[in-house]
Amino acid sequence: MDKIDLLLKDLTETPGISSFEDRIKGRMRYYLSPLGEITCDKLGSILCEKRGESSYPRIMIAGHMDEIGFIVKYVTDEGFLKFAPIGGWWSQVLPSQRVMVYSKNGEFPGVVGSKPPHLMLPDEREKPVKLDDLFIDVGAKNREEAENDFGIKPGSPVVPWSPYQVMGKDGKFLMGKAWDDRIGCAVIIRVLEDLKGERHPNTVIGAGTVQEEVGLRGAETSVKVAKPDIAFVVESGIAGDTPNVKKDESDVKLGKGPTIGMMDSSMLPNRKLVEFVEETARELGIPYQYEFMLRGGEDGGRIHLYNSGVPTVTINVPARYIHSHTGVIHRDDFENTVKLLENLIKRLNAEKVLRFI
Ligand SMILES: [Zn+2]
Repeated sequence: MDKIDLLLKDLTETPGISSFEDRIKGRMRYYLSPLGEITCDKLGSILCEKRGESSYPRIMIAGHMDEIGFIVKYVTDEGFLKFAPIGGWWSQVLPSQRVMVYSKNGEFPGVVGSKPPHLMLPDEREKPVKLDDLFIDVGAKNREEAENDFGIKPGSPVVPWSPYQVMGKDGKFLMGKAWDDRIGCAVIIRVLEDLKGERHPNTVIGAGTVQEEVGLRGAETSVKVAKPDIAFVVESGIAGDTPNVKKDESDVKLGKGPTIGMMDSSMLPNRKLVEFVEETARELGIPYQYEFMLRGGEDGGRIHLYNSGVPTVTINVPARYIHSHTGVIHRDDFENTVKLLENLIKRLNAEKVLRFI
């Protein structure tokens, strides 16, 4: 594992579901502190401001720190945990997945339990499992042990457990949890690291936002601290290069470059800014793709509406199997996204930004 792998391993394996972002925020602070001035909003987002040769334009690069997970609703008398989802889950990806439950007494491994097929009637097997029928087994003898010894109680966070692994012959396929949106966090860190000691005609604000998965909430508060003139949101894209996905659903492929968000349900990007991203990518020989997200929004949905409006575009690193325990990305897409953003920033001076409005 090289430096990039270690960064991605650290960021993806750190737990941090919406409203429990303290630990991932701590890691962001660790990486960003040497690179600029750190500020926070009052919801939990962290911002790192790096002043270049000019205070204008202010460029915000945002990625959300939170991941999807669960919180404990109650413990059954037998010691099993019933839970509520945080973020968009599909119940079919959950049975027999491993999780980590956090409490003031420590961290406790568990598994999402469900009825074995042997005990199901034929028509029961055909039906999708309901989220309400699932539970978590943490190996507690009973409710007293789970609550008193483990310290697990209503509201305890539950996080998917999925170690980072490098796959494939050339080591470029990377498997892990929470690419959505720790890959965005990693891009922000790498861009700010590369800009250290470099000249750029603007001020850059990297922002790790909170609570994106439950409604773009940290974007709404952090943008008021960042006060951007222009914004890039860095997200995980939705790859469609797997069996049974139609071209019309997603034409995005791993290893074919970052995607430019052309639409989602919360934002339409600034079209002149999109053209500028395309031009820059072409000049640098960076491949790029287009993403059309018909359902679901991203942090840009709030950021582009800040004040009287902010020219904004979302740039995504494609990922397979997002919103499940384990996703796969391609390292070239990550590196090309970093390179693209860095070069966009170096070219964005006051005069250019005024042209987008
Ligand atoms: Zn996301």
